[in-house]
Amino acid sequence: MQIVRGIEELRRAREALEGSVGFVPTMGALHQGHLTLIKRSTGENDHTIVSIFVNPTQFLPGEDLDSYPRREEADRRICEIAGVDILFMPEVSSVYGKDEVTLKAPEYLGYILEGSRRPGHFDGVVQVVMKLFNLTRPDRAYFGKKDAQQLVILQKMVKDLFLPLKLVPVETVREDDGLALSSRNVYLSPTERAEALAISRSLKRASRLVMAGELSSEAIKQEMYAIMKALDVEYVEIVDRSFRPLEKVKIQDTIILVAARVGRTRLIDNLWI
Ligand code: AMP
Repeated sequence: MQIVRGIEELRRAREALEGSVGFVPTMGALHQGHLTLIKRSTGENDHTIVSIFVNPTQFLPGEDLDSYPRREEADRRICEIAGVDILFMPEVSSVYGKDEVTLKAPEYLGYILEGSRRPGHFDGVVQVVMKLFNLTRPDRAYFGKKDAQQLVILQKMVKDLFLPLKLVPVETVREDDGLALSSRNVYLSPTERAEALAISRSLKRASRLVMAGELSSEAIKQEMYAIMKALDVEYVEIVDRSFRPLEKVKIQDTIILVAARVGRTRLIDNLWI
């Protein structure tokens, strides 16, 4: 595995790869969720590039940019074992310059739900992902359904900007007890971790309700709020694949989204129906 930090070095390393290339962008502190994306890529492509970059432009002032978990050595070993060809770990100063040309997330999709709680977050996401796509020129890029809104915005970016690559959505990986894996789970104390389980439990309940024929968004949301009553819930929303709110669940075209604070940690989770 080649470890690459510089832009020119990455261009050269990419140039030398023959055959198909899969790309997995991450912010590091790799866990089983990331590893699932990486394995999917190594299984479907001749080569895999992983990036680890804690992208400053997608953090808002006051968010956890400085304290975001960084575990370079462990991440490097995981990538090596997983069969990654190139691990790209650039410095912020090589990725960003002054007074840049910028991309903007869509007015609607980029500024509702996660985008309204974190205004500008998705502008930073599209900016960095576009840069990374241009540098790695992948045939396929792998993204988790855990970050549903990010995935849908990036799918739109690929479509709107005619990018010559395919996005591959990957199912959310969970702990045995249901908690969705996230690099931010390390912030949780044991008590908070136990409390956080209410999030995945509420989604499981929603899934059971839908299977039993309950399609009313209001009824489903009420039950979910009741399960999460001990948490500081930011939103529970039931939307279609374009993120338009739904009064009734539409089978095959619904995402149920939750954002909640557990102590000082903000967690998101969702269910695709
Ligand atoms: P991050 O390092 O948090 O930016 O995540 C990098 C990629 O891993 C994104 O595409 C995420 O959606 C994906 N990801 C994060 N957590 C999970 C998970 N539990 N299951 C599947 N994919 C995940």
